[in-house]
Amino acid sequence: MVNFKKARERMVQAQVMARGVHDERVLEAMRKVPRHLFVDEALRDQAYSDHPLPIAENQTISQPYIVGLMTESLELKGAEKVLEIGTGSGYQSAVLAELADRVFSIERHPELGYRANSILRNLGYDNVIIRVGDGSLGWPDDAPFDGIIVTAGTPMIPQPLIDQLAMGGRLIVPVGDRIAQDLILVQRGREGIKKTNLGGVRFVNLVGKWGWKE
Ligand code: SAH
Repeated sequence: MVNFKKARERMVQAQVMARGVHDERVLEAMRKVPRHLFVDEALRDQAYSDHPLPIAENQTISQPYIVGLMTESLELKGAEKVLEIGTGSGYQSAVLAELADRVFSIERHPELGYRANSILRNLGYDNVIIRVGDGSLGWPDDAPFDGIIVTAGTPMIPQPLIDQLAMGGRLIVPVGDRIAQDLILVQRGREGIKKTNLGGVRFVNLVGKWGWKE
């Protein structure tokens, strides 16, 4: 039987901090969220290892370091409204829920959306709202957002997401081909839109109007 709390601390130190994520609030959130409860029971012992893991519908829960890196890039202080595209297991949503005021998350597979919702409810995360649909269109009813995180790879940055970014807001999105992408940080400032490349990643495909076709 793995000691999950110890495994989580080791994960934070050896995988997340060691690779340069230093935002104390992000590290604290990752120490707290029980990642093993977001994966299949058979995979719980691997929940804190240094790689992504399969979830239902042929999708994956991201590698812990990538969750840390992407979350840190949003520079959340606590009062933000955040949008996530690709709820998947719900793990990233829980990390965001620890760090922001409200989290809106969209998943295209109903089954994943329902499951993530029930895990988040059981853990008491009442500041996360999950919707099933095409997240490449964003969530216009509740825009603008201070932070937007896309956890699936896309051939281009969906324009609706840029449009739904608040002044001073930050959007992090993997952009590239179906196999490999670059993490692009988009910041909306007074002088317009600024883009920074944070490096190479491999995500499952964003499937939707502004992503890939099936
Ligand atoms: N953030 C997730 C990672 C999930 S993998 C986690 O912490 O577990 C990416 C997810 O994006 C998959 O569940 C996939 O079904 C979903 N996805 C792909 N295209 C989408 C779209 N257009 N809208 C919403 N979700 C999408």
